[in-house]
Amino acid sequence: MPNKGGFSLRLDVPPDEVSLAKFLTQSGTFRHGDLLVNMDGIRIVSQNTSDAPPPPIKPIDNQISLSDVDTIKVIGKGSGGLVQLVQHKWTNQFFALKVIQMNIEESARKQTAQELKINQSLECPYVVACYQCFYQNEAFSIILEYMDGGSLLDLLGKVKTIPEEYLAAICKQVVNGLCYLHHEKHIIHRDLKPSNLLINHRGEVKITDFGVSAIVASTSANAYSSVGTYCYMAPERFSEENYNAKSDIWSFGLVVLECATGQFPYPVPGKDEGWFNMFAIMQAIMDQPPPSASSEDFSPEFCSFISSCLQKDPKARLSAQQLMEHPFLSMYDDLHIDLASYFSNDGSPLTTL
Ligand code: ATP
Ligand code: MG
Repeated sequence: MPNKGGFSLRLDVPPDEVSLAKFLTQSGTFRHGDLLVNMDGIRIVSQNTSDAPPPPIKPIDNQISLSDVDTIKVIGKGSGGLVQLVQHKWTNQFFALKVIQMNIEESARKQTAQELKINQSLECPYVVACYQCFYQNEAFSIILEYMDGGSLLDLLGKVKTIPEEYLAAICKQVVNGLCYLHHEKHIIHRDLKPSNLLINHRGEVKITDFGVSAIVASTSANAYSSVGTYCYMAPERFSEENYNAKSDIWSFGLVVLECATGQFPYPVPGKDEGWFNMFAIMQAIMDQPPPSASSEDFSPEFCSFISSCLQKDPKARLSAQQLMEHPFLSMYDDLHIDLASYFSNDGSPLTTL
């Protein structure tokens, strides 16, 4: 079995029950060489001690269950439910566990599970890995790759604005991820926003939560609770039944402009009072000219990049593949931008245990 991420399993090796019996006790997990033993069974592992960043991994032959993990702490809360940091008992590996409360009947549950399973088939360094989804106790639980820097929303809360050179390095990764989703997997994200772009101490930026918002919206009472989702929706999503991957490009453009200026590009009525007028936001997105970056504050390349994303006509918007070639993405290459230090030193709330 290939060692995809720090450990490998050799379940073809039959455990020697007699020699292992001495390590079994009533509690805990014991390590004996390459063996991990606890009351639930025996696993054979081999820890990778190298410092090299592990690629997105599939833990334990793709099998992981809630009883395999310990909860460390709650790391986030979205409209659908809680996100917790959990640790795998066998390997000590950290994961994020997202729990979406959803009391639905069996047919809808099966369909939802099927749709969530699509996430498990995705393998890309720019997309948060999804290891397992299951329905238990009237909730969907999703086990995700843990991103220890939190989201771009968290980062923006600290740094207020992200300088162009760092944004270029961030955008390059997100556009790569969008290329994978749109052009290789033919998946539309539908809910790109700062909280769905996650970062880690290695300077990686990854897209998360594709399809999850649509599922939450279509199957639960949470349908209208995520106002954030509406703020980043492309104009055609309010007026046309059919929309395509270009609607993600619009959302991405708004996210990038917000990161650069520190402000959501449309005036949001009620934001300061703690409420949002969703209708006014939709009206502004549909009726007003698209937002743009000021040429006084930003490079021509950045302004052009934003305008390539924020075209009200989806046909006039560049695709992810076309954006890959945009000069903004490579204009700061000579600076060898170190996102790892930026995320670690400049305010990212890197999770501490
Ligand atoms: P909404 O539910 O309105 O879409 P959201 O995206 O913030 O908002 P969640 O997706 O539930 O809601 O995420 C909540 C927070 O949990 C995120 O902002 C992020 O800080 C954290 N989070 C989510 N997934 C992970 C992960 N895989 N690793 C680390 N932190 C995560
Ligand atoms: Mg999210």
